[in-house]
Amino acid sequence: MSEVRRVAVLGATGSVGRQALDVVRKSGGALQVCGLACKENVEVLAPLVEEFRPRLVAVTDPAAEEVLRGKLEGISSRHRPKILAGEKGLSELAACREADIVLNALVGSVGLMPTLSALEAGAILALANKESLVTAGPLVMEKAASCGTLVPVDSEHSSLFRCLQGRDPLTIRSLTLTGSGGSLKSWAAERMEKARPEEVLRHPVWNMGRRITVDSATLMNKALEIIEAQHLFQIDVSKINAVIHPQAFVHGIVELEDGTLFAHLSEPDMKIPISYALYYPSPGPVQRKALDLAEIGRLSFERPDLERFPCLCLGYAAAKEGGTLPAVLNAADEVAVEGFLKGKIKLTEIAGIVRRVMDEHEVETIRSPEQVLEADRWARDRALSLVPA
Ligand code: MG
Repeated sequence: MSEVRRVAVLGATGSVGRQALDVVRKSGGALQVCGLACKENVEVLAPLVEEFRPRLVAVTDPAAEEVLRGKLEGISSRHRPKILAGEKGLSELAACREADIVLNALVGSVGLMPTLSALEAGAILALANKESLVTAGPLVMEKAASCGTLVPVDSEHSSLFRCLQGRDPLTIRSLTLTGSGGSLKSWAAERMEKARPEEVLRHPVWNMGRRITVDSATLMNKALEIIEAQHLFQIDVSKINAVIHPQAFVHGIVELEDGTLFAHLSEPDMKIPISYALYYPSPGPVQRKALDLAEIGRLSFERPDLERFPCLCLGYAAAKEGGTLPAVLNAADEVAVEGFLKGKIKLTEIAGIVRRVMDEHEVETIRSPEQVLEADRWARDRALSLVPA
């Protein structure tokens, strides 16, 4: 890549956002930050603004905006960024003209509108916000087909995306997403019922946000990723498999009609998919040595136990039905996970709450982002009513 690529990072203070900024730091000037956004964590954001000097900054929380203004007063007016506020500010930043690439690493359904805005503006969208595809896959893919470019950042999808480059869709028989199995992989059902938040939050491989770590333990994360893959790769959900692979070196596998498998192997390090997306379609700089397979010694795979992990079945059901149901699954899970983290429900009650909200929902075909957000709100309220106060 000869010219400088300008990057807007949404969700700059979260796990993916911070790792992305590290990729920018090590780019030797090939990547430059033109915008930074976060929800409210201005303590972390302010030093990043000083370091990267973006022209635009967005914070969704109005109270945080005031605090940020105060913190940035020391920067000379020539270098002080324009501060955008609220959810509208996120979309404005995502659509800004100077961004060649927008990394959407926001958490939650708040990521949907910025995803659509970035694509509409014709940017390359590096998508780490799962909810965009899970809740509104048809809208996002329609936009991606007509204007922007979508590159997945979720590690399994990044792997599949790479394995699928240059292949005729007609030759694909199946896609397999791997999962390490999360923190409770080998726990018996009775023990899972008593799992405490701090045990569940101890993920053996990946260091991630709290919700996704709980979702990894229930396999809801894999369920969401199946829905993501269904839209991203425009493939029938019956052709998407999930397999447990505790060593987490194989991230995605593509099976061709002739029975051949193509797998993508790498260290379990989010900087690999982040870097791939930020430099796409150019190859990123070579930074790491190859995996030493002899050193690793053994790669194992097992089928997920659907009795112990009912969330996986809920994911398939939502993917099959489509419409507003995946948005409902996602929102109900987010509320239930929060309930578990606050000690109000057991880990094993999450699936039951999500199932009940899904059962009560009258599924509609998706026509607009507003309708998706409305289904999201409805599901949140219903789930909240099922979690003890
Ligand atoms: Mg993943």
